[in-house]
Order: sequence, then C-alpha cells, then structure tokens
Amino acid sequence: DVTVGVLALQGDVREHLAALAAVGARAVPVRRPGELADVDGLVLPGGESTTMANLAQRFGLLGPLRDAVRAGLPTYGSCAGMILLADRVLDAPAGQQTIGGLDVTVRRNAFGRQVDSFESAVEVDGVAGGPVHAVFIRAPWVEQAAEGVEVIGRVVGGPADGKIVAVRQGSLVATSFHPELTGDTRVHALFVELVRAARARYRSSDGAIAGV
Ligand code: GLN
Repeated sequence: DVTVGVLALQGDVREHLAALAAVGARAVPVRRPGELADVDGLVLPGGESTTMANLAQRFGLLGPLRDAVRAGLPTYGSCAGMILLADRVLDAPAGQQTIGGLDVTVRRNAFGRQVDSFESAVEVDGVAGGPVHAVFIRAPWVEQAAEGVEVIGRVVGGPADGKIVAVRQGSLVATSFHPELTGDTRVHALFVELVRAARARYRSSDGAIAGV
C-alpha cells in the first residue's frame, strides 16, 4: 500500500501518524530531505507554522519540500499545515517562509480572540456520512481561493459563518481544523485515496517513479 510521511519537526505528528495508519497507509515521520523520496504523500501537521518553517529551513528541508510539492507530491495540511501550503499568508510575521503550492490566501489566527478555539460541524465535499466534527485551534481560514481551487468546506453558523475552512487543488488538500484530534479518520481516508490515485498515475508497475 502507499507510504505517507508526516513532517515531524513540530506539532501533532503522532496524531496524524495514527490517523493515517488507521486508514491503511504506511505512516512514517519525515525529518530529513532524503526521506521525502520514500513517500507517496505527505502530511503537514498542526502546530505553529513559523516554528515549523524555521525548523524546516534549518534542517535543509524547505527547498526539498517546495520542490516535492511542486513536482506533484500529494500533500495534506491541517491548520499550521494549511498555512505552510498556502501561496499567500496574511497576518504572518515579516519574513515568514512557506512551502506554497496551494493557490490560496490564508489569514493566520483568523477567528480572533473570542473564538480562539471552537468546534463546529462542517460538511466536507467528498466526505460521506455526515458533517465532520471540526476542531479549530487558533486556526487560519482561507480568505481567497483562486479559480483552480475547490472549496470543499465552509463554517455554517456562528460568527465565522461562510468562512472557507477546507480546500482541494488537485492532490493538495488543506483544512483549518484538526481531524487528527477527533478520532474521525474520514478526511485522512479522502487524502489517502488521492495518494493512491496519484501513485497509480505516477508509478509504473515496477515501482519506479515515471520520468525520474
Ligand atoms: N496559529 C498557528 C499558526 O499560525 C496554527 C495553529 C494550529 O495548527 N492549531 O501556525
């Protein structure tokens, strides 16, 4: 089956590894550039995006991560991971680095102080079986999504009504919330399905990556 890496510099790495394993992927932590070559997909966990980007830079991972995402590595970012995947970030510290690849503008800590952390039911397109119980922790939202980006989830009701909190662009998926913290593995299952489909497209039967 597919191997999915979790960027393991900071954040809720363990929870993502468990969710990926629960949906049948081989889940491995990724800390070194060389380890990127061995994964069919990648998860950027929740945590603190500035810290993660700084560590990625220090460990020589930022360039390889950018290259891998641009080369088509299926990648799922939750919360801080969504920020790292975004091409444009609002309310970020000056000089904040991202990986990019997802053609969206996100706003960091968007929900504001009053709703620093909250939970809400979010219908996610492509996830059957009812709304996802979404946990938001100092979460970003997507302020603007380019034309090629599918909006697959919005907040319904409350002060953040209508805000975009889940998107997909090809094999890139991002959510403002943390399905890895809830025991609901349907978003991870959706992502692993994308990874399987991409692997079937990119790898020949002997396992070599086509064109590399
Ligand atoms: N506020 C954090 C950041 O900007 C994200 C929070 C999270 O991942 N729960 O990176």
